[in-house]
Amino acid sequence: MLNELQAIVGDKNILHSGKEKERFTHIWKTDQPLEALAIVFPTSTEEVAAVMKLCHSKNQEVVVHGGLTNLVGGTGSQPHQVVISLEKMNRIEEIDTQSRTMTVEAGTILEHAIDAAAEKDLFLPLSFGAKGSAHVGGIVSTNAGGLRVFRYGMTRQMVLGLEAVLPDGTIITSLKKIIKDNSGYDLKQLFIGAEGTLGIVTRVNFRLLEKPSSRSSAIVALSEYKNVVALLKFLEKGLGGTLSGFELMWQRTYQAMTQPPSTYSPPLPSSYPYYVFVESLGSNRQTDFEQLTLLIEDALEKEIILDGVMAQTERELQNIWRIREDVSVLADQSPYDQHFDISLPIGVIGQEVNHAIEALEKLPFVSSIFPFGHVADGNIHFIIGKKDQSKEIIEAINSIIYANLKKNNGSVSAEHGIGLDKKAYLSTSRNATEIRLMQLLKATIDPKNILNPGRIVDSSTSPPVL
Ligand SMILES: Cc1cc2nc3c(=O)[nH]c(=O)nc-3n(C[C@H](O)[C@H](O)[C@H](O)COP(=O)(O)OP(=O)(O)OC[C@H]3O[C@@H](n4cnc5c(N)ncnc54)[C@H](O)[C@@H]3O)c2cc1C
Repeated sequence: MLNELQAIVGDKNILHSGKEKERFTHIWKTDQPLEALAIVFPTSTEEVAAVMKLCHSKNQEVVVHGGLTNLVGGTGSQPHQVVISLEKMNRIEEIDTQSRTMTVEAGTILEHAIDAAAEKDLFLPLSFGAKGSAHVGGIVSTNAGGLRVFRYGMTRQMVLGLEAVLPDGTIITSLKKIIKDNSGYDLKQLFIGAEGTLGIVTRVNFRLLEKPSSRSSAIVALSEYKNVVALLKFLEKGLGGTLSGFELMWQRTYQAMTQPPSTYSPPLPSSYPYYVFVESLGSNRQTDFEQLTLLIEDALEKEIILDGVMAQTERELQNIWRIREDVSVLADQSPYDQHFDISLPIGVIGQEVNHAIEALEKLPFVSSIFPFGHVADGNIHFIIGKKDQSKEIIEAINSIIYANLKKNNGSVSAEHGIGLDKKAYLSTSRNATEIRLMQLLKATIDPKNILNPGRIVDSSTSPPVL
């Protein structure tokens, strides 16, 4: 097997002796070294296809690696599995300024794609804390969201076409640059958000937008959750479509992010119950800034907010957003942590988070509770610190966070996906028929269950029937 893999990718593009192991350790779980038969680094779609053909013929299980930033155990592998890393397929093949599209290989780091678009005065609106490490193939496979979903949508909304390699090595290329295409099933959707269970994404065509020429930001403080909802409506109406970010932080999270050992200075005092980070992207630096300033002043007068500050300089703007983007550092405050990204209707988020905090505070092994999130999308994250770790502890915390998802028609995963970690809770957001259809798709496209096995749903030995 190793010789045949080596013959496909060349000896420079295969590791199987444990060399450079650290590089492949999940960035948040440095205590879990990579286990695999081998890691291969194909440099073209044809090589990915040849590797998959070989693995298919030998019933060899494969796990796909992008930038390894997923938070659901999606890239963990076992000693008998082959890992395919797309990191050497990182070329930006084309930026078409007329059709406003970008064709990139799947191993391209998201930030590199964003920067390349910006050089042509174009805009790829995806943005989140891991953008400097996450790959295009990874973000497509997890349908990543982030800080601007509210205005621009998830990754799915930005993908015009893609190329993927099926578990048997077949290449499916659909790299069209067109927005409208109703010629049958929209096959690319099979691979977007499929977490590598149906195919390996090798190239992607993104839709780009004109780059906004102004970015204005503010951070505001509020007394009650209902005012957070009122502020969202107020700003949406007042900004007429330029509102692009509306991120909520509960007081405990803001305090942890702005008090030692954190190095960020607090733009506002840390005595308020809620903080909202606001971003507006527009076309005129001066008038956009003035418009947001006036709205913040108006919100103060109307007592929707208690306090607020505009970012006056680029430095202040960066400081405000780093407080929000760098929340992952909060996981380092405890020996163990659990993180969540649930979806709920906006109206119930305040009460549901309060219930969860109350219940979590009663658990003796919980040391910290940090809620924050993309509230305009109904997406709340929790980072929960723990003094101890066991299956029972994990389940006790899960059961609190997921308690009312079904009742509220929410989702166990707003954006991170299911992976291995959340599989047991898929039924809190999907009914039995939906899960059987997912199993049927998996069994049809990957009947040998060799590609990212065990992610999202378990395959059944006999093809599931609806
Ligand atoms: C600090 C931090 C902040 C984050 N913030 C957000 C956020 O705001 N919003 C959000 O949505 N997510 C967020 N995430 C998680 C997010 O899902 C990932 O960062 C990103 O989408 C995964 O990309 P990746 O290249 O790291 O993929 P990986 O972690 O390598 O892989 C993710 C999954 O996709 C599969 N995969 C990877 N590449 C391919 C491919 N080419 N073809 C097929 N399958 C593939 C893997 O097997 C795995 O199942 C955050 C993560 C971190 C660490």
